[in-house]
Amino acid sequence: MPTALITHPACLEHDTGPYHPENAERLRAVLAALEAPEFAHLLRESAPAATVEQLSRVHPLSYVEGILSIHPDLGEPIHLDGDTIMSNGSAEAAARAAGGACMAVDAVMEGWARAAFAAVRPPGHHAEPGKPMGFCLFNNAAVAAMHARVRWGVQRVAVVDFDVHHGNGTQAMFAADSDLFYASSHQSPCYPGTGEPWEHGVADNILNVPLRPRDGGPEFRAAWGDTIIPALEKFAPGLLIVSAGFDAHIDDPLAQLRVETADYAWLTEQLVAVADKHCGGRIVSVLEGGYDLHALASAAAVHVRGLMRI
Ligand SMILES: [Zn+2]
Repeated sequence: MPTALITHPACLEHDTGPYHPENAERLRAVLAALEAPEFAHLLRESAPAATVEQLSRVHPLSYVEGILSIHPDLGEPIHLDGDTIMSNGSAEAAARAAGGACMAVDAVMEGWARAAFAAVRPPGHHAEPGKPMGFCLFNNAAVAAMHARVRWGVQRVAVVDFDVHHGNGTQAMFAADSDLFYASSHQSPCYPGTGEPWEHGVADNILNVPLRPRDGGPEFRAAWGDTIIPALEKFAPGLLIVSAGFDAHIDDPLAQLRVETADYAWLTEQLVAVADKHCGGRIVSVLEGGYDLHALASAAAVHVRGLMRI
């Protein structure tokens, strides 16, 4: 069964300015890598904008309407915080990023794809219920998780996050619901400063495995193989969603882990195996961080290869 690639040109129009690490070149690099012949069989679809109803399942309605109303069309982007910026195209990009994640869920639930990758930006995992943060406006993976529950009746949803930064927003949205599972490996100490092992949710449904600066593939594989995947298996989700950030890569400028491209291939294979065992093979992946263009492109490519099982 095919794999879906979901994106939208509007995601390139979220303009963060000339020196921002989270810029449109990132998505261009990922999409260029996915033009290689081995990806010819991807089913390519355009991301719809998420509806206010979809977004307001994890964000307050006032927050959703506030973000969607920001159109600084006289040129100057607006700084929502030190690193989170909105330009004229940002509201649509953010709506399509979350909508692309929801469409990825639809793809695997409707059954026209077994796996789906949403190549979107802005990223999502730092966005808290009522606060934009860390380049993120809407929490794409969490919106997708709630869409799976409401639209498809999948009660138990897991989001696993291998971005080098802790997904504080996703954790905040999931911690009180024992049918939602969030697990993360991330560098500590590092932005945003959350993600300690004792943050475990109401029912051990939050699992944080911090890694130390300079840790590399062996520690990364141990975190997933020895701790996160066994806990994920125990949770037994009905759908597996991946927050796929590639900034733990050794070449990434924003953190100090030393994960290599082959490690992302290994992890994707492990996650696909969990999806096979518990989710009828259904796995959805949503792009988060990754700031070295070459590392991002090559790691995203092996990740999508893994989703395609090639
Ligand atoms: Zn990150």
